[in-house]
Amino acid sequence: MTPIVDLRSDTVTQPTVDMRNAMTAAPLGDDVFGDDPSVNTLQEKIFSLLGFEAALFVPTGTQGNLCAILSHCQRGDEYIVGQFAHCYRWEGGGAAVFGSVQPQPLQHQADGTLSLEDIEAAIKPDDAHFARTRLLALENTLGGKLLPFEYLQKATQLAKSKGLATHLDGARLFNAATAQASVTGADVRKEARRIASCFDSISVCLSKGLGAPVGSVLCGSREFIASAHRIRKMAGGGMRQAGVLAAAGTYALDYHVDRLSQDHALALRLSEGLAWLPGLEVETPHTNILFVDLVGSAKARSAELLHYLKTNGILATGLYRLRFVTHLDVDAAGIDRAIAAIKVFFEA
Ligand SMILES: *Cc1c(COP(=O)(O)O)cnc(C)c1O
Repeated sequence: MTPIVDLRSDTVTQPTVDMRNAMTAAPLGDDVFGDDPSVNTLQEKIFSLLGFEAALFVPTGTQGNLCAILSHCQRGDEYIVGQFAHCYRWEGGGAAVFGSVQPQPLQHQADGTLSLEDIEAAIKPDDAHFARTRLLALENTLGGKLLPFEYLQKATQLAKSKGLATHLDGARLFNAATAQASVTGADVRKEARRIASCFDSISVCLSKGLGAPVGSVLCGSREFIASAHRIRKMAGGGMRQAGVLAAAGTYALDYHVDRLSQDHALALRLSEGLAWLPGLEVETPHTNILFVDLVGSAKARSAELLHYLKTNGILATGLYRLRFVTHLDVDAAGIDRAIAAIKVFFEA
């Protein structure tokens, strides 16, 4: 049987043999007592890599963002966030549900940014009518798009000048850094650090393109991480011999960062393979996520296309738009199979 080409998400990756070996060999302790050496190693590695004082290993990116928002904001505060940002749209309203923190969502510009004018206009004056605006939360990459570095600088400077804290949902920070490095020629880790340097806090997923089975890390000041640590416990994220998972994250930071450019190349290969097909509008991917819109007479056929692909062993998603995500368990042959199947679908 031909293998499944799973392009639904970069979360579907299986830990490699070497990663499993690193997990098996990891020294363990009880992380609630702070004495799991493998958790501590991961936390130190990521905060020094990104230039922060401290870090916290959390089970999910959702919990990382929740701990961040609830550490920056109190009950009755609000955070400014993009309409399609994960920590607004895709996390069950957690900041509002668990923290009584109100989101102030803003429309994205075509490049994924929030306009500086919109951000400034959304900051409420100190008046009893309003929630207190406390935080600007950005996301990079956003839907696979790299936000321009100059924009990150300007938006976070604006926020700081207005007394707001700044948080980056950097679930795919290293994809952003890889795309940025391909333009600047600098090292991927250096670009990751430059992006992170704009923000007071950042959360990074280990279980997306980096290929770990579980986990995210949240970075910030010592004081911020102490607060996030308390919230993590409250949210049920105090894990015990968590080093078995953290070791996978450390392995991923050591061995899976420099290969992300391969995922980006495969997303580009897919986009180029589909670009000329009638009925498809293909957005050139910056990183590992390709969005495709069906247009004209093909417009209503997305469910049909996804079903057809599935029967041919190719998985993708289509909640808002068709989405194809590349990762370490996809290769060029798989991408070419996807291209061929989509071609047949439209020719039939
Ligand atoms: C996946 C993702 C998260 C949350 O990660 P989970 O581990 O699935 O909770 C947060 N932000 C972005 C941008 C993501 O893509």
